[in-house]
Amino acid sequence: MLSFEQAREQLLAAARPITDVEELPTQSGGGRILARPVVALVDVPPVDNAQMDGYAVRCSDAAAVPVTLPVALRIAAGQAAAPLPPGAAARIFTGAPIPAGADAVVMQEACRAEADRVTLLEAPEPGRWIRRRAGDIALGAVALEAGQALRAQHLGIAASVGAARLGVARRPKVALFSTGDELAMPGDPPPPGDAPPRIFNSNRYVLAGLLQTLGCVVQDLGIVRDSAAATRAALASAAREADLILSSGGVSVGEEDHVKAAVAALGQLDLWQIAMRPGKPLAFGRVGAVPFIGLPGNPVASFVTFVLLVRPYLLRCLGVRALAPRPVLLPARFAWQADPQRREFLRVRLDAQGALERFPSQNSALLSSVAWADGLADVAPGASVTPGQAVPFLALSELTGPP
Ligand code: AMP
Ligand code: MG
Repeated sequence: MLSFEQAREQLLAAARPITDVEELPTQSGGGRILARPVVALVDVPPVDNAQMDGYAVRCSDAAAVPVTLPVALRIAAGQAAAPLPPGAAARIFTGAPIPAGADAVVMQEACRAEADRVTLLEAPEPGRWIRRRAGDIALGAVALEAGQALRAQHLGIAASVGAARLGVARRPKVALFSTGDELAMPGDPPPPGDAPPRIFNSNRYVLAGLLQTLGCVVQDLGIVRDSAAATRAALASAAREADLILSSGGVSVGEEDHVKAAVAALGQLDLWQIAMRPGKPLAFGRVGAVPFIGLPGNPVASFVTFVLLVRPYLLRCLGVRALAPRPVLLPARFAWQADPQRREFLRVRLDAQGALERFPSQNSALLSSVAWADGLADVAPGASVTPGQAVPFLALSELTGPP
């Protein structure tokens, strides 16, 4: 058996970067990965400016307070500022440029305004309530590095430094299929009365959704029947365009062997036994030159292996440097004895106190446990968890969210 870490390292080492760059308007960059850094075209902010509504002054004119000064200027945001005459104050508003000569702003709550004069009630210190030019980002600085996954706040940074367009990594194309003669799609006509009951293909919905959230383009090959011909045809079609071929089912020992045999015939295949639960069997190889990952069919196992192994693999292909998940230690409300050989990822939920409850059954066939859970508790092989003990928790919001 491979340890979970070994499997992860081997997958990450095999990830080939997507080097094609797509140019997008900045507002369309959400969820994408920067392929080129964003360099500031301007200082942010561009000039020294007021952080408060109030009066811009020279501190030397206001060393002893209260002091009354004539109001010589009025400067609003977006206006140019004339120099401040000595011995005078400038009425100023948040975001307006500081006039030459002024070295502090006195907030209006510390002033008494009288017609064209103002009485300062507090003595300012130099620099008070002034936001400095380039105090956030300086002209020429790298505002966002290549490999940054773009959320709304990063688009805001790009906009703030004047970037109208971004260079992002091309979306990965992932060919996806599910294997199994027992599978049907919701909405399919019911089978004849004497046929065995079918299982609806839930993995397709889970995996396609997770891939799309990562920004992948999914080529959906649907259900592939347990036959050599159908499996080969699906793989050959997938290998024409995809960056990755992903399947579920058909990789357990003793399974009708079509996926493994077909991948091996068209390329190369390793069947891994990973010391994890759920998700022990996983196939990794290639069809022609296209990487192939075969996930186990059990719905929880395919979900867990996707979020813990395939997701980091795809993020690495996209050039993302920070590969979630980042565990947090939280107290368990439950007892658990882990499998002696296998690292376990338990479906758990946060209670109102921020402690972890466990889904009653950890059977890897029960997709309900994933829908119920807030995250996975990471329990080392052979470890016992007792109530109150701190356990690493991996949030599903992170594991199933955008990059
Ligand atoms: P397998 O890995 O093919 O041996 O499948 C293991 C279990 O997962 C079996 O009970 C399958 O019926 C079930 N299963 C396989 N593929 C899917 C799927 N796409 N959706 C839901 N259940 C599945
Ligand atoms: Mg099967």
